[in-house]
Amino acid sequence: MALTEQAAAAATTAPRVGAQGSRGPGAGAAAGTAAGAEGILRRQAQRESAARTYARSLPIVPVRARGLTIEGADGRRYLDCLSGAGTLALGHNHPVVLEAIRGVLDSGAPLHVLDLATPVKDAFTTELFANLPAGLASDARIQFCGPAGTDAVEAALKLVRTATGRTGLLTFTGAYHGMTAGALDASGGAGDVRVTRLPYPQDYRCPFGVGGAEGARLGARWTESLLDDPKGGVPTPAAMIVEPVQGEGGVNPSPDAWLRRMREITAARGIPLIADEVQTGVGRTGAFWGVDHAGVVPDVMVLSKAIGGSLPLAVIVYRAELDVWAPGAHAGTFRGNQLAMAAGTATLAYVRQNGLAERAAALGERMLSALRDLASAHPCIGDVRGRGLMLGVELVDPDTGAAAPVFAAAVRQECLARGLIVELGGRHSTVVRLLPPLTLTDEQATAVLDRLADAIPAAARRPH
Ligand code: PMP
Repeated sequence: MALTEQAAAAATTAPRVGAQGSRGPGAGAAAGTAAGAEGILRRQAQRESAARTYARSLPIVPVRARGLTIEGADGRRYLDCLSGAGTLALGHNHPVVLEAIRGVLDSGAPLHVLDLATPVKDAFTTELFANLPAGLASDARIQFCGPAGTDAVEAALKLVRTATGRTGLLTFTGAYHGMTAGALDASGGAGDVRVTRLPYPQDYRCPFGVGGAEGARLGARWTESLLDDPKGGVPTPAAMIVEPVQGEGGVNPSPDAWLRRMREITAARGIPLIADEVQTGVGRTGAFWGVDHAGVVPDVMVLSKAIGGSLPLAVIVYRAELDVWAPGAHAGTFRGNQLAMAAGTATLAYVRQNGLAERAAALGERMLSALRDLASAHPCIGDVRGRGLMLGVELVDPDTGAAAPVFAAAVRQECLARGLIVELGGRHSTVVRLLPPLTLTDEQATAVLDRLADAIPAAARRPH
């Protein structure tokens, strides 16, 4: 598929923050050149931790960004479909976000306020509550947590353990909830004695070998029988934690009927249901929250990423009945980021006022259908799936159907060479993930798909 002229123009005409050749904020004397960028990358490799992640597969030095587009210090432009790991609902440096941040800076308001009340925080809470599922908003409490998604997961676990007096946790295969100890235990890569792992529905790699509604039904049946088996080894847990669409796990949307069943199973047994909407929230999946598709009202929602409008912010919102922990039970110095709250309020309001969830649903459907066409032309694409603008393309060995991690890494590299930033997810890092901003235009979507369509055969032509 060739890059259409229109799409090419859309891809390369993103507004620039600075004039050609001028240096943006933070761009050092030599940074605006290819040689300057190389020096920065070399020093990063020498000085930063072996645990660094995105920096390894994306050796670029961003100096300017707007909307979908990032410009590197070497002058190259990229279409950013990673969006800060799904954070940037409005893309980079959206004018309403910048205006909100400037408003706080220019007002003379304190930037550090611990967890004190401020007009900025009050406005954020009001906007957030206005967007919550109605059944939760009517009687919700909010806890501002440390700044990352994983902090909010920890807070949620502590909340339900305190409220129920129980310790166990129901989690799912392939889950990702963060990198701190409790969140890591709840994730699919780790195991903790207090965690019971349940099968998350997947069509393509269904653990029961049937996929579809039947695979999901069997998973729910297993969940129910385990909880009701007095010798099943699973005492009533403190909660079940679930992602409405697994992101890092490989873009697996849960069927609505299955999520409703999880709600029924937990409600019937007095088990709080925690929805981890860190990645699915704020319109990403084509509804304001991932749980909205199924009409499910969780007891606790874990929110971060998009709610901070590109700055660090994390909260839990939960039913007031659970609010029985002691003053100071979950504290932290950095819970009052005024800039993030202002940027978040602007983002939430913009998504609501401009119907961006509906836009994500419609555009996501179209992109999914284009990806399905691509899959029929390339046997190395085992599956395409997603919901809204959370899309995944699973790459496999065309002969055996086995996971193809080396090939997937080559596709990511070929995308970058064509000015497209994507990341990999899934059990074997073989799922190309597309998480574009919800403001993506039709022309930009075409440009993204064209670049991916070119990258896949280019990667396949590499010797391996
Ligand atoms: N939960 C989910 C569903 C996530 O996708 C992530 C991050 N990818 C987290 C929690 C952890 O968020 P953070 O990286 O901000 O700690």
